[in-house]
Parts: sequence; structure tokens; C-alpha cells
Amino acid sequence: MTDTPDDLPRVTVRCYAELVDLAGATEVEVPVGAPRSVKDLVESIGIPHPEVAQLRVDGVAVDLGHRVVGGERLAVYPPFHALADPEAPALAPPWPDPRRFVLDVHLGTLTRRLRLLGFDCWYRTHADDRDLALVAVTEDRILLTRDRRLLMRREVVHGYCPRSDDPDLQAGEVVDRFGLRSRAAPLTRCVRCNGRLRSVPLAEVAAQVPPRSRAAFDRFARCDDCRQVFWPGSHVDGLAGFLDRNGTPAPPAGPGRADSPSRPHASPEDPWPRS
Ligand SMILES: [Zn+2]
Repeated sequence: MTDTPDDLPRVTVRCYAELVDLAGATEVEVPVGAPRSVKDLVESIGIPHPEVAQLRVDGVAVDLGHRVVGGERLAVYPPFHALADPEAPALAPPWPDPRRFVLDVHLGTLTRRLRLLGFDCWYRTHADDRDLALVAVTEDRILLTRDRRLLMRREVVHGYCPRSDDPDLQAGEVVDRFGLRSRAAPLTRCVRCNGRLRSVPLAEVAAQVPPRSRAAFDRFARCDDCRQVFWPGSHVDGLAGFLDRNGTPAPPAGPGRADSPSRPHASPEDPWPRS
């Protein structure tokens, strides 16, 4: 693109809301030497196609395969942007419901935050780009990665690039982006392995609970998959703040509600380390 002659026709790309972060400017002029799809064009300025919810060329809604030749004005919208037209055709199928995610190897802390909110998150420390894209497609999961090249892969349908470096802020971005607040089921999923947590009587897990915690807490939960035992821990204040910001707190577990542990907190492996 750097050696493109100045006299080539250009497409003026207008970016809205959080897409400005990716493009680095509100408006970008892109030279077009030959007809080019709008997918390629928006990705050439750093916006992966899963970030885009709506495209308009000279005011008319188009899909990702629409070709431009230069001279057009292209508007690029993220989801939920006020100016976007609800009548325009969707660029992708609806997000999976319930929401499911696959996260790249650099987002381990975000994975734990989202699991803490109850969301199903596929995460492997050795997954490569091909694995991640394959899982996203075959399991209909939303791909979360800060590698925009990965998000630009054609087969990726749903995805998002967290902008912040801070895992708590990343979690807030993902919650806002995918409408997670009302869908959260905090502390129902194992932060370590993604398994479901189930309430268990102390008698069943006493051997895994230090004596001091046995005396101090009356609610315990165990992961169905890795058998990790959880109970309310010492960091509940910070945890409660995170949950209040990002998820509707789960109702307290009533007697007999074996499938609804009430805010168990992990120990001995703390899922919510202070950093
Ligand atoms: Zn587990």
C-alpha cells in the first residue's frame, strides 16, 4: 500500500465508535488499484471483519463481499452503534446463545474472569491459531484474541479483540460487547477447567478443606470435572465488586438447591488472585 501511486482512486472509510481504536483514525483514505471486497478493505486498515456489524457504501447497506472500485464512501459500524440501521442485513449469524468463547493463549486471566461469571470458555495453553479458528467454527464459539490477523481469517465468524491490557477491563469490554451482564451466572463454573460447579455437603469434601475453613464456612462446591473444591474465600470484597460490575449476582443457594452454589470461592488454588 505504501508504494501505491497518489493518483489511484480512493475509498473514504468512516469508522464508528470502538472501531476507531483499531483503525487509528475516524476517517481513513484507502487507495484502490483494482476492484476489492469491503472485507479486504476494512481489514487493510486494521479492522478484523468479526468486529464489524454493519457496512454502508454511499449510504446503502452492503455485505462483506461487496466490491468497491474507488470514489465511494464506506461507513463501518460495530454492534449496537446508535447510527446503525436495524433494518440493514446482518453481516453474520446471531451470536451463539448461550454465549460461548474460545480464547487465545495470551488471555488466560480473562478466561478465568469470564468463567467466574459462568461463561463456557475453551482455553488451552498450547493452542495454535489453527486450533483456535477450528474450535471457534466447529463449536460456534466467539473467538477472543488480541491477534487481529487471527480474527481476520475468513472462517472466523464471531470474534472480538480486547483493547485493554488489563484483564478486568477486558472482561468489562467483553461483557458490554456481547450483552453478558444479564446472562451471567457467577460462580457456577470452575475457573480452572471450565467444568460445572455443584454444591456439596462438607462431609463429602472435608478431607480437601483445611480445618480453619471447615469451621468458618458452610457452603462448599465441587467441580464436576476436575473435582476441585471451592468455598467462600478471603477475597470476597474484590470479587463482589467485579461481579457487581460485570454480572447480575446469582441468587443465594437455598436449602436443597444442589445445583446452585452460593458464591463459592476457590481454595487451595485461588481463582481470583490479587495482582
Ligand atoms: Zn474444574
